[in-house]
Amino acid sequence: MPHYKVAIVGAGPAGYFTAQALQSLQSDDLTFSIDLIERLPTMWGLVRSGVAPDHPKIKSVSKVFEKVAAEANFRLFGNVELGRDIHLADLTARYDAVVLCTGSSLGKKLGIPGEDLPGSLSAAEFVPWYNGHPDFTNIPVNLNGTTAVVIGAGNVAMDCARMLALNPSELDSTDTADHALKALHASSIRKVFIAGRRGVEHAAFTAPELRELPKLEHTDVRIDASEVSAAHERAVAEYGEVLEKHLASNLEAWRLIAEHPISGHDREMEFRFLSTPLEIKGNGKVEEVIFGINEIQGGKVVATGKTYSIPCSLVISAIGYESAEIPGVIFERGRIANDEGRVVESNIYTVGWAKRGPSGVIGTNKSDASDVVKLIVEDLKSPKVAGDITDLIPTDHLLIDQAGWSAINSSEVAKGEPLGKPRVKEVEWAKLLEIGSNT
Ligand code: NAP
Repeated sequence: MPHYKVAIVGAGPAGYFTAQALQSLQSDDLTFSIDLIERLPTMWGLVRSGVAPDHPKIKSVSKVFEKVAAEANFRLFGNVELGRDIHLADLTARYDAVVLCTGSSLGKKLGIPGEDLPGSLSAAEFVPWYNGHPDFTNIPVNLNGTTAVVIGAGNVAMDCARMLALNPSELDSTDTADHALKALHASSIRKVFIAGRRGVEHAAFTAPELRELPKLEHTDVRIDASEVSAAHERAVAEYGEVLEKHLASNLEAWRLIAEHPISGHDREMEFRFLSTPLEIKGNGKVEEVIFGINEIQGGKVVATGKTYSIPCSLVISAIGYESAEIPGVIFERGRIANDEGRVVESNIYTVGWAKRGPSGVIGTNKSDASDVVKLIVEDLKSPKVAGDITDLIPTDHLLIDQAGWSAINSSEVAKGEPLGKPRVKEVEWAKLLEIGSNT
């Protein structure tokens, strides 16, 4: 009976769903051993460090990941970095397949003057900061001013804007990292602009996220009603009266937001569309963002040449992500060069954002993983016999195995329990390694 060894790199949703897909294909004629390798001492990738703390239901998928991890053919190797502690060629020599599930951790750059001023952050920094990613615990986040601008019209921009505009007491019962919760309580930000460069009808927000907005208890949400009706008219002119479901649902959600009465809360979110960021200005720190005003002509977004400015002290750009490069792997357009998950001419594969770019929800990775695992099985030939990752890691390396990760997980959950929180995240590398290696 053939038995194959698969190494998966990256313990986020793509990694766990790949392991699950392999487990589900096991039969009397085909078995796998799965080694999951992760750079961090904490697991679950974006489910832990991406999903907004006020969306706890999305995180319940971690139960699936723990079920995968409980299977006898699964081993975890945390605190092991590909390219530093181990090398790709060493893995490909020992495993029948190596699946890179390393995601997209770098924020795309705006490429405009002033982007690097203090006070200008990428969502790729701000999101892991409030979610307790140990690499981002100490980044400077300036919440001293009154106004923040979030650039981008996708769900990540929406998460960032909500985190800044909610009354922080709404986050007290969540797993927002303690340092971020404290900073958000002390924040003087009261107005958050979200700016999209195209029209309302082109925004990448999804309807469930939009429909939450009129329900916010402590935050008024502003969108110019005439912008929503103009977007509706343009959509009907382009696609006809019967709009595609996603667009119709979004436009309906926008109408509800625009019609929702303003309550006079001291916290506000305001949407600005047809606004291209041209420059972030300030004397040694962010002081304003200059936007170019666009219009739509014949279905196309064009610059009018007119500009306006939003004075602010914090800018967060949430305009998409790119993958961090891995030595020995070819990257193109911000992701691993691949053909439907096969990384050319080798036993290397990729799943998730590293494969297809930063799109889709957590669950998208399940079907992605299942498709790629079918290709892996098609390609498998005679099983490799000798060696695995244990030959590669020095005995004194502080490894976080499944027991170690379980210790971190249970310790966080136990700390959260008396406070009515799902967990209190441990955010320092040293502490995480200490808890995770004392098992
Ligand atoms: P996204 O959905 O692709 O949105 C990116 C936004 O950035 C778009 O509005 C895009 O505008 C804009 N943008 C790109 N380049 C720009 C530039 N140079 N200047 C100004 N704007 C620019 O990406 P995302 O928000 O990072 O989300 C990634 C994926 O995660 C998405 O599939 C999202 O749905 C998912 N996600 C889901 C949830 C949830 O389910 N609650 C939460 C977070 C993320 P154009 O359209 O004009 O290019």
